[in-house]
Amino acid sequence: MATLRARLTVAYGLALVGNTILFAGALYFAHNARGLQLRQLGRVASDQGDRTLFLIRAAAREGRTLTERRPCGEPRDRLCVFATADLVDLLDRVPGYYLVYDRDDRQIYSSVGIRQLSDEDRLAIDRAAVRLMPDGEATEVPVTEKNFGGALLLAARPDSALRFITRVVAGVPTTLLELTPSVLIGTMIVVFPFLILASIGVSYAIAGQAIEPIERIINEVEAITDGRSLHRRLPSNLGSEEVSRLGTTLNAMMGRLEASFGALRQFTADASHELKTPLTVLRADVERAMHPNAAGNEAMQALEEALQETARMADLVDSLLTLARADEGRFDLHREPVALGPLVRDVYETAVILGEHAGQRVSLSVLEEGMVNGDAPRLRQLFLNLITNAIKYTPRGGSVELSLSRLLGDEIAFTVRDSGVGISAGDLPYVFDRFWRADRARSRGSERTGFGLGLAISQWIAQAHGGRVTAQSRLGRGSVFTVVLPVLVRDGAEDRETSREGRDISN
Ligand code: ADP
Repeated sequence: MATLRARLTVAYGLALVGNTILFAGALYFAHNARGLQLRQLGRVASDQGDRTLFLIRAAAREGRTLTERRPCGEPRDRLCVFATADLVDLLDRVPGYYLVYDRDDRQIYSSVGIRQLSDEDRLAIDRAAVRLMPDGEATEVPVTEKNFGGALLLAARPDSALRFITRVVAGVPTTLLELTPSVLIGTMIVVFPFLILASIGVSYAIAGQAIEPIERIINEVEAITDGRSLHRRLPSNLGSEEVSRLGTTLNAMMGRLEASFGALRQFTADASHELKTPLTVLRADVERAMHPNAAGNEAMQALEEALQETARMADLVDSLLTLARADEGRFDLHREPVALGPLVRDVYETAVILGEHAGQRVSLSVLEEGMVNGDAPRLRQLFLNLITNAIKYTPRGGSVELSLSRLLGDEIAFTVRDSGVGISAGDLPYVFDRFWRADRARSRGSERTGFGLGLAISQWIAQAHGGRVTAQSRLGRGSVFTVVLPVLVRDGAEDRETSREGRDISN
């Protein structure tokens, strides 16, 4: 799967090659057209040659003497053919460029136009004319003469009727056919609109193909209008690497959103459910108290129960508010250096009183010192949550053991170990979930205890302090809940030191 960048680069590269080929094709066509024109011009030269021959033949028929033979150079008796003054006079009146040759390929006449050229040019023209095949292809001879400015296209015409004159070579200037800048500009003006149109078309097609998967993504994402369509996912293969990555990222985001929406719905449903039970009980209690036949102490008892339910509801609302604030990131923590030793000693004293009521032995096995940067009331709430759970889920005669010990790596651990009912391995991963309880039916019964929010709040408090809560448990054997918090590290040595008391304070 190529990247979008690579695909676009290749596509635009190909488009450029295409355009170049198109332009080269246009030039090639222009060049070929010149070849065509040259052939036409060659025919014009041939016609001119024919006309000259016609004139000569006509004069010969009239009986005029056109050639004469005179001695010419070595050997002495050698005779050459020369044009007579009559022929020269006749032909000089014909404008243009042409030459007359005898049967020995000797030039016997050159037209006025040719005579006006330089010796050099005349020599070049003569050489080319001698080589020309009669009736063959016309040939171009460059002319250096400034005023001429181009070349002469020569064509030979044969004659078999005359005695001494065998052919006439006529020439036509090619000046008009030259591929001058103006011709080039003209070609470009004609070709350019097509090139630009082709470029726009190709670019439009390439861009359309490149953004097609993006449009698919837009359509898919637009189709997800509410929380209920969040189960939809984008296809995994969306063409280019970048767009596929975008699809994967959006899929992951939709997965997270789906989970959040699900959790939110579950949370609302659970919260409503939890509020419904105390409200029903409250209503029944109030109705009982208001009953005309209710005796004074019966009404009082009903009102007391109603008060208890109100307190439970207040607790629930308080917990919900805490979690809502935590979710919003408005967990109001008033952080300051907190010495955990005294705090744990304090909660230990409360735990002892709670344990006494529940008939359990509460002990503090290890108490090491450690400062954390935290909110003391929240930390107290966290520790007490774990302690009350331990006491709540441990039968009479059981034991609860607390400890505060330093760990390696500037951390400190507060542990609550109980010998209670424990949690099954299957349930353990869910203990920190909101509204989760190992035995919901029992919790809702006569001895309703919690809402299943305590551990969720505890986890939030620990995390807000940069720490964590972990749970280990075996069903029927007891549980160990551990809070690990980072200790405050100051430059001063006193904060780094811990006084290991190692005392076993038991009740
Ligand atoms: P609750 O208010 O119901 O105690 P928590 O969030 O504190 O809510 O605890 C959730 C559930 O975890 C409890 O209902 C209970 O089933 C289980 N649990 C928590 N602590 C203990 C423990 N120490 N021993 C056994 N089970 C526990």
